[in-house]
Amino acid sequence: MAQCTLKPDIDFTRTLAEAGGDSLKKCYQCATCAVACPMSPANAPYPRKEMVWASWGLKDKLTSDVDIWLCHNCGNCSDLCPRGANPADVMSAARNAVYQDLTEPKCVGKLMRNISGLPILFAIPAILWFVVWWIRSAYNDGNWFPTRADGSIVFGDIFYGDYTIDPIFIITFFGALLIICRGAYKLWQSFKPEGSIAFVGEKGCWLCHLWNVLVDEVIFATHFDDCHDGPKTGKAAPSRRVGHTVLVWAFCILAFVTAVVALGHWGGKIFPAIEVVTPLKPLNLIKIIANVGALMLVVGLIMLTIRRFTENSETHKSNYYDWYLLGIIWAIALTGIFSQVFRLAEAAGPAFLVYYLHLVFVWMLFAYLPWSKLGHFVYRTVALLYVRMYGRKA
Ligand code: SF4
Ligand code: SF4
Repeated sequence: MAQCTLKPDIDFTRTLAEAGGDSLKKCYQCATCAVACPMSPANAPYPRKEMVWASWGLKDKLTSDVDIWLCHNCGNCSDLCPRGANPADVMSAARNAVYQDLTEPKCVGKLMRNISGLPILFAIPAILWFVVWWIRSAYNDGNWFPTRADGSIVFGDIFYGDYTIDPIFIITFFGALLIICRGAYKLWQSFKPEGSIAFVGEKGCWLCHLWNVLVDEVIFATHFDDCHDGPKTGKAAPSRRVGHTVLVWAFCILAFVTAVVALGHWGGKIFPAIEVVTPLKPLNLIKIIANVGALMLVVGLIMLTIRRFTENSETHKSNYYDWYLLGIIWAIALTGIFSQVFRLAEAAGPAFLVYYLHLVFVWMLFAYLPWSKLGHFVYRTVALLYVRMYGRKA
């Protein structure tokens, strides 16, 4: 008879508990959760099997399990679990633990695990931008808060775009992209082929599948409908699907505006006709689009934050990864808005200080993206692409 050797990893179980899956030991394998899950296919049910793997510390099993990425954290399974084992939280913790483990360097992942790492994560960009500020103030006769002759404030007089902001963010962005692509590749490689599963989805090239995943998951978040917009809050709360969609569209608008300004700025050096001069005037079309994006960002944030506060903590709790991402986006939105308000009010001290914090938070968003919940969206997209290519319409 063939023998199967299990390799339990106790540290991994501890990591899961730390990442929000501390209730997993209560599970007694009744399988109610697998029946209750609206996303789980009949021929590959979850999350019961993941509960036993997690509780036994079977890290390899969970790492190669594509199903943990198909869970949309609706909480139906936790609502119905007779033991209060909160399988939705365990699935979420498993995803967090797996992508932290896949993404190098792992020391950043460790710092991202709980709030104790936050001071170091904050200090790195705070020192970086402080040094930039310090050096640039020397070019302004030691003035840390320069204003123009007419009293106006130009952030570029300190945080000069061409030699500070642009190169720092370009290096950070492409560095994060490289890290996350490597992690996504490792994740793809770790999945086990699902040859035994009948092909029920549409056949097509990987690009078509990727496009479908992006439209369904990212642009319209249609799976939240299959999840009945859970987790249930028991109180009136904004729609999870609408909140996510507004936030994603806001990010797309802001990314588009940034690209247009960068193209106009750098392209304008070669083709003066397309030059975009910053700071933009309030009635400039690009500025208006950017402000619409910023407004949508705040609306989406308010909706998702209210939802998190109205969740039933008995059956579903937000973990540190959820709060970290919401917190960083809030910090970016508020510092972005207030730096503009102080700039227009010609209050140089608060304007430069808040803009400095804005740069720190934006850097944190990009640089730590591979270890944050935003990185998790990339990994989920990879998993969805994988299952569609193997014929599952998940
Ligand atoms: S998590 Fe709960 S519902 Fe699922 S198998 Fe365990 S005890 Fe049953
Ligand atoms: S949280 Fe929802 S999607 Fe995830 S396993 Fe539970 S029931 Fe299924």
